[in-house]
Amino acid sequence: MTKDTPRIGFVSLGCPKNLVDSERILSQLRYEGYGISSDYEGSDLVVINTCGFIESAVEESMETIGEALENNGKVIVTGCLGARAEQIRQRYPGVLAVSGAHAYEEVMGAVHQHAPIDASLGSEVGVRAPKSAFAPGAGTGLADIGVKLTPRHYAYLKIAEGCSHRCSFCIIPQLRGDLVSRPLDQVLLEAENLATSGVRELLVISQDTAAYGQEIRHRTAFWQGRPVKSDLLALSRELAKLGIWIRLHYLYPYQNLDALLPMMAEGAILPYLDMPLQHSSAAILRAMRRPAASERMLERIERWRTICPDLTLRSTFIVGFPGETDADFEGLLDFVEAARIDRGGCFSYSDIEGAASRELPGQLPQEVKEERRRRLMERLARISRERLARHVGKVETVLVDEVHNDHVIARGAGDAPEIDGVVVIDGAWELDPGDFVEVEITASDEHDLHGRMHDYEEAE
Ligand code: SF4
Repeated sequence: MTKDTPRIGFVSLGCPKNLVDSERILSQLRYEGYGISSDYEGSDLVVINTCGFIESAVEESMETIGEALENNGKVIVTGCLGARAEQIRQRYPGVLAVSGAHAYEEVMGAVHQHAPIDASLGSEVGVRAPKSAFAPGAGTGLADIGVKLTPRHYAYLKIAEGCSHRCSFCIIPQLRGDLVSRPLDQVLLEAENLATSGVRELLVISQDTAAYGQEIRHRTAFWQGRPVKSDLLALSRELAKLGIWIRLHYLYPYQNLDALLPMMAEGAILPYLDMPLQHSSAAILRAMRRPAASERMLERIERWRTICPDLTLRSTFIVGFPGETDADFEGLLDFVEAARIDRGGCFSYSDIEGAASRELPGQLPQEVKEERRRRLMERLARISRERLARHVGKVETVLVDEVHNDHVIARGAGDAPEIDGVVVIDGAWELDPGDFVEVEITASDEHDLHGRMHDYEEAE
């Protein structure tokens, strides 16, 4: 790189699905020879990958655009909030370009226009002919793993884009379109390459992971010369062969989930279900237009726990949805208790521009929503504390995330990075992030576990 090579600043907001989009754009930038800058001042222009999921995320994205304009002046906006281009342009007429979610080509087009690489510098700066990393079949090779925004030992594996449901509170399908599953062989090749490059835990994500392959009727693909069905079960079986941790996120309780539980019980994939249930009341679930909502949820959860006693169940809930009665809310408190939700999150309902639920009658006062959120969070925290206590006295395998002078931060099978708790191991240990070690769990609290070293296997 020379001092003339354009440098791009990049801000990635929002969820892991957005993070994967950021990784792809950053990989393409680097592939084409652009420099990546870590501050506004050192950037020739700034790309902001925005989030538009809830109003607070919209405001955060808007404020970030304003900050980048103030500190740099040349700003390209992409991501979910890009669907509200007019609103962005109205507030910030100075932005150079606006595109929606996973609009990789448009982002690169805008970068080429506003921060072109001088072709004469090509050989000097190692610029390769800008072929697209987003073309069909791309994104599959080792080189295409490219930039990862996660630590080296874990990575998000996005298996599909978009969602074909129409939950009344959600505008994701408007922002990201209907479900489009990535070809199975591409997903598996990427997974294999990641495992080979040192990744020890894959976090499988999409908007609707259990629906993988639905829109292509679960057609059979070829992987390593074998026919493999494009569905979550077959995909999980193949991923399990990599011999690393496989964690599944964003699963709705379709019938096909039942078949995953024996795999979890055997340890082929992690015994971890991240299932955003949102509510327990049949009336509210209907008003929310939730997929696979069933009044028999408790029975199913009981069955799953019988098959896989180590199961960690994570879920999120929305309280204060229009029309939610006291009885609906009390029922939800009872439900999380009976379902023994190990890890829970809770939002109080907020209107999102463009969401159908804005038009529903029975909107609740903010203080009622906040009070319900506080009560549910308290309940979830207590259940989490009680559930974590069952680990004490057991020897468990954990994955090391951080090594400090006097302690180590690791995660167990029930702890997804960023959203769940951790396992703290006291003492100075010669370990590296990505090591699997055995710890004896000695104590627990509301979110975290504490343990002492039992045995460990060093990373290569
Ligand atoms: S399932 Fe519902 S909440 Fe989830 S992305 Fe699709 S529409 Fe939104």
